[in-house]
Amino acid sequence: MTLKEALTKSNEEMATLRATLEEKAKSSGLNAYIGFESLGEGVPILIKDNIQVTGWSVTAGSKILQGYIAPYNATVIDNLKSKGMMAFGRANMDEFAMGSTTESSFYGATLNPHGNNRVPGGSSGGSAAAVAGGIAIAALGSDTGGSIRQPAAYCGVVGMKPTYGRVSRFGLGAYASSLDQIGPIAQNVEDAAILYDAIKGHDDKDSTSADFEIEDIANHLNSDVKLTIAVIDSYVAQADADIQKAFAYTVAKLEDAGHTIVHKELSNTKYDIATYYVLATAEAATNLARYDGVRYGKRAASKNTEELFYNTRSEGFGDEVKRRIMLGNFVLSSGYYDAYYVKAQKVRHLIRDEFNAIFEEADLILSPVAPAVAPKVGASQDPLEMYKSDMYTIAINLAGLPAISLPVASNDEGMPVGLQLIAKAFNEKTLFNGAMSMEKVVNYNNN
Ligand code: GLN
Repeated sequence: MTLKEALTKSNEEMATLRATLEEKAKSSGLNAYIGFESLGEGVPILIKDNIQVTGWSVTAGSKILQGYIAPYNATVIDNLKSKGMMAFGRANMDEFAMGSTTESSFYGATLNPHGNNRVPGGSSGGSAAAVAGGIAIAALGSDTGGSIRQPAAYCGVVGMKPTYGRVSRFGLGAYASSLDQIGPIAQNVEDAAILYDAIKGHDDKDSTSADFEIEDIANHLNSDVKLTIAVIDSYVAQADADIQKAFAYTVAKLEDAGHTIVHKELSNTKYDIATYYVLATAEAATNLARYDGVRYGKRAASKNTEELFYNTRSEGFGDEVKRRIMLGNFVLSSGYYDAYYVKAQKVRHLIRDEFNAIFEEADLILSPVAPAVAPKVGASQDPLEMYKSDMYTIAINLAGLPAISLPVASNDEGMPVGLQLIAKAFNEKTLFNGAMSMEKVVNYNNN
């Protein structure tokens, strides 16, 4: 059942659906859900474990937050309620949204429903796997450097990252505050637009929230638009054969449908990963300083205050989170601050300016989401290799742009390939129209 269909059903039918989803989720073996709480009546939307829901456990997939209960709703949760939807179930995720595979969760790894012992991607892997596996109608994830779009691509579903500032971050557990956005993961583009409409909008409780409203999109979607779509050939050439093949197929289909393809260059892409991992870790180190054993969740045994901080953080955080805290504190430390942090901020501006220059001449950019299909469970042991797999998603967060990932093809093993469309800031309308058109012409679900 799609989200659009579910919204026409009664509360009784939705209550039955919730029971069915729970039962199916438990027997699926995917480990996509880590809880089955439910918040009132309405169409059930699965919620990533870093979004606050009153009275629910919220742990961001971490041991350090075990036992912590959210005292309030994130704004997106209140917004859902006003649109006939409601929070149902907790989605598994990489610890503190740091990762690309959903293997770093305290609750164990989530599996990709397409089988072959593959990861679902991350960090919103539970959300994407559940939607793809038919055990959630739609879900909320968060995207700091690709965590909605990449798992959506790996699992063959639609994932959308809104423009920075379009969706309130109030009640989202902070990873890197200047990059984080909450967004929808859904079965198709229209459902993603419905969910995006529900959660978007200005919020006084988030000082980075854009203070102007824009019209709802889902009711006015138009898949017959003719757009100018830019492709970055040198960018695409770095992906593997599966992705390149799917990319060429999609470009041909878009041209057949009457869109104009233009070829552009981005000269700073080689700096994307370094820039992101300097800025994201700097912000993460700062944001995660609050987990000290005093205010939230777990408290380790200790004899004095210093030991309390030390033991709580040593026992509570996993390896990847510790690695990022160390890296973040390093780039912020005196002597290195100018060389790394300040320089990365400057490069971030250059990256954004380059995207904006392309949007002078094109409505959208078409790009891969990841350089390959989902890797096997256990194959991503080298952190640097994992960071490199974020090469196509992180620049969009650095530039604050909206983007949507949708499935276009499968490789020979049946693993999905997703591609993303990227739009100018606050131009979600063109983004969704382009995605509707692309969804129609690639015809993924019937291939
Ligand atoms: N894989 C990226 C990281 O680990 C992105 C994560 C995200 O978007 N939350 O930082």
